[in-house]
Amino acid sequence: MRNLRVFVASLATETNTFSPIRIDRSAFEDAFYAPPGSHPETPTLCSAAFVAARRQARLHGFTLIEGTASWAEPAGLVARSAYEGLRDEILYQLRDAMPVNVALFGLHGAMVAEGYDDCEGDLLARARAIVGPDAVIGIELDPHCHLTQAMTDASTVLVTFKEVPHSDFLERAEDLVALALSAARGDVRPHVTVLDCRSIANFLTSRSPGRELVDDILSMEGKNGVLSISIVHGFPAADVADVGTKVVVITDDAREKGRALAAELCTRIRAFGANRMPYMPGPEEAIDLALATKGGPVVLADRWDNPGGGVAGDSTFLLRALLERPEIAAAVGAIWDPVAVTFCLAAGSGARLSLRFGGKAAPSSGAPVDAGVEVMAVTPDHVVPFQDSRVSLGAAAAVRIGRLDVVLASKRAQTFHPEVFESLGIRLSEKKIVVVKSASHFHTAFAPIASEIIYVNCGGPYPPDPARIPYRRIRRPILPLEAAEPVWMT
Ligand SMILES: [Zn+2]
Repeated sequence: MRNLRVFVASLATETNTFSPIRIDRSAFEDAFYAPPGSHPETPTLCSAAFVAARRQARLHGFTLIEGTASWAEPAGLVARSAYEGLRDEILYQLRDAMPVNVALFGLHGAMVAEGYDDCEGDLLARARAIVGPDAVIGIELDPHCHLTQAMTDASTVLVTFKEVPHSDFLERAEDLVALALSAARGDVRPHVTVLDCRSIANFLTSRSPGRELVDDILSMEGKNGVLSISIVHGFPAADVADVGTKVVVITDDAREKGRALAAELCTRIRAFGANRMPYMPGPEEAIDLALATKGGPVVLADRWDNPGGGVAGDSTFLLRALLERPEIAAAVGAIWDPVAVTFCLAAGSGARLSLRFGGKAAPSSGAPVDAGVEVMAVTPDHVVPFQDSRVSLGAAAAVRIGRLDVVLASKRAQTFHPEVFESLGIRLSEKKIVVVKSASHFHTAFAPIASEIIYVNCGGPYPPDPARIPYRRIRRPILPLEAAEPVWMT
């Protein structure tokens, strides 16, 4: 173990190919960019392998060589130069680190760049060519990835987060590092089975039937030769060939057992149906439902304007519905509007001004709001917790319109935590309705303060229904577009 050489790097974003927001290298550098040796002690969603590998290196004394880690907030297509530049930076570091026994990559798995529908498959194939056939390549993926043949072929072991929302990214990184190290030591001979379910699943693990599925998987791992099980949900907001749900079972050299288990899990997931999301009311109905609820704040999740899914996070549909009901004590956040934030910072805390905000990225964001506001608070950098990580919303402001408080942010990020409001002086306990821009990651931190959580369908801009997405390049047949049978990838 002491003479093992382990390399770790991370390159991640999630590309919504339907989003109008293009990203270049500055989007990575602004969101998260840690050159070798500068990764913080806290993990980020896709770079937890750094933290897990450091811990194992301290325990066992192997040599850990750190490469670059970078993440861009999900958006539209990545510029070719941005992807190639970051890829080549990491591959140069890997070449420089040779010989290595283990190469670990924290990826998301759904990055699409100009000219590259499968960035991770491209990166991993090049990494395999450098490390050779005998080194272990271990990858951590978000379950909202496109698990492609190229990614599967180039990697030795792969682990996805199990939880949606992804509360377990550090635990899964620990699993990955432990598995990759045991494979490198020869303690296990990982056999990876991947079954393409030929379906687009859409389910949460915070409620049935996803909850039971994850609990069962966790109870199967580490027993009877089953080393690891991952469920790739897939990321439907991308028009690429490999969209879809896949089951990954890694056994200790037990191919048939892995196949049987993968087939069983695939059948179970396909039986969930195409869309296991709860019924989602529109804005007015959601507000009525919230008012009919007893007790404290009701959280309305603006599920389809979630910056984490690559869209802007500046839609105004719920905001406008609340402005029509000025008697309701409410808070909305965070609306992405760097221009409005600049105006608020210049005016300063306590200022009153006429402000235009929200509704700017695309027609699907709705119209901007014009209102007389009081600036409650401003900050040059609004940093909030997300699990074990910290996320910056950039410069931000809280503004008040009667009983409605709104957080405006200059960086796109999900409303992960009540601190998005509270640290700017908005007391959520005094609100009846709290609107968050997030599909599911808000859940862990907001559930303890919410009397009820309602997922709201404002119609977009993220495409809410796979059956209505105008796909042109996705491989067919696939459920729910038409009948389709599962296909073995390994
Ligand atoms: Zn995800």
